[in-house]
Amino acid sequence: MQTQLSVMQLNILPELLNFPRQVELNRVIEGTYPVSKLARLNEALLSNNGDITAKLVFTDSVGFASLKGEVSAKLLVQCQRCLEAVETELSGSFKFALISNEDEIGLLPEEFEPYLIEGEEQSIAELIEDELLLCLPMVTVHENDCSAYMAKQNKAIKAEMEKAKKVQKEAEHPFAGLKALKENLNDKVN
Ligand SMILES: [Zn+2]
Repeated sequence: MQTQLSVMQLNILPELLNFPRQVELNRVIEGTYPVSKLARLNEALLSNNGDITAKLVFTDSVGFASLKGEVSAKLLVQCQRCLEAVETELSGSFKFALISNEDEIGLLPEEFEPYLIEGEEQSIAELIEDELLLCLPMVTVHENDCSAYMAKQNKAIKAEMEKAKKVQKEAEHPFAGLKALKENLNDKVN
């Protein structure tokens, strides 16, 4: 059965919506959401400028009320190599089945993640934020060489690594020192 989708283009996505109602309306909602309003995401960023772009498709698929969609954003994070700013482009997609009871999880086709509907309205902001956090890499570094800052840091990093190696070596042979001490004592006794 072909369903008629009603597409809504919004400048700014609403923070909250009644998701099951959107499914009844077969609604496609496209819009942006300001990065600055997502506190958890901001903790991982250097700047809260810019917008997240999202597309949300509320529809009935294979008998389940579903919410499929995409999120994307250009975000400024800290390069883990030189500690300067680096822009990272993120995009992710999701496919939720809207369920009202946890017992329904077992009935879902594998392709769906469960989304438990509670209360009158559900949070678009939270959903977008969760999806972006999921696709945020653990470590981001500049693709090419890092800035001059890197050269300055290089020497210090090398020294630190040498130090760490030495500590590790000592840890691998914890009795080396003891043996030397014992030999030393023996020498004195004899
Ligand atoms: Zn860098």
